[in-house]
Amino acid sequence: MKPTPVSPIQIARRGLMLVISSPSGAGKSTIARNLLDQDKQISLSVSVTTRPRRQSEIEGVHYHFISQREFERRRDSDSLLEWAQVHGNFYGTPREPVEEAMGEGRDMLFDIDWQGAQQLQEKMKADVVSIFILPPSMTELQSRLHRRAEDTEEVIRTRLANSRAEIEHWREYDYVIVNDDLQAAFDSIQSIVKAERLRRDRRHGMFDFVTKLVEEEPDLQSL
Ligand code: ADP
Ligand code: 5GP
Repeated sequence: MKPTPVSPIQIARRGLMLVISSPSGAGKSTIARNLLDQDKQISLSVSVTTRPRRQSEIEGVHYHFISQREFERRRDSDSLLEWAQVHGNFYGTPREPVEEAMGEGRDMLFDIDWQGAQQLQEKMKADVVSIFILPPSMTELQSRLHRRAEDTEEVIRTRLANSRAEIEHWREYDYVIVNDDLQAAFDSIQSIVKAERLRRDRRHGMFDFVTKLVEEEPDLQSL
């Protein structure tokens, strides 16, 4: 006789707001993409930006590319949860998809800078898990920006010049990962997500589970 399959116990929990920041070129988008591919419980918060689209980017997938005027309209009507000016362009997180995901207990990933991370940490402290990605060296950061080959020399220079000031914010994050070996960095992120999902204060369904657990009378006859 085949054993009856045991269904896994599902305990309702709050969604995570996984915030990842780094200086440009340290590898946060690569790590974020891997995570989204491997973990179907997480969806990406697609930001709005006034930056020109890169060749490899798709409207609505990587960003919503909008004009400065449209950005100001959204910012002023409070439809952005946070926003910032980064490397001379404006970026912001649309509020509605985040509120929807959080209401349904779904996890969301935010690829945003330290200014955005600060704003989310202030507004939604209990739900935010923040991770800062560092490059192994400034030389490697520079060569990754060149290897990516998506930005002009001038844009790369601006980003490198800004990187030291961005790195200064590493202490404001819950976790810090040095992205030397990509697989090792990715393994670390997966471990963080796994552990954060298990935190007691996120698992509101645990209350009902334990209440039922201690009320259960074991069937002593069947021993
Ligand atoms: P960011 O999103 O932080 O600006 P990207 O994810 O676009 O950075 O990565 C910048 C470049 O570095 C890309 O070409 C990417 O393939 C490469 N890269 C990312 N992580 C590593 C790593 N651990 N080792 C070598 N190259 C990497
Ligand atoms: P990039 O132009 O390379 O896509 O992004 C430049 C920087 O802007 C990165 O540090 C990225 O994380 C940040 N960024 C992207 N979207 C947002 C956003 O919605 N809000 C904030 N604050 N930063 C963002």
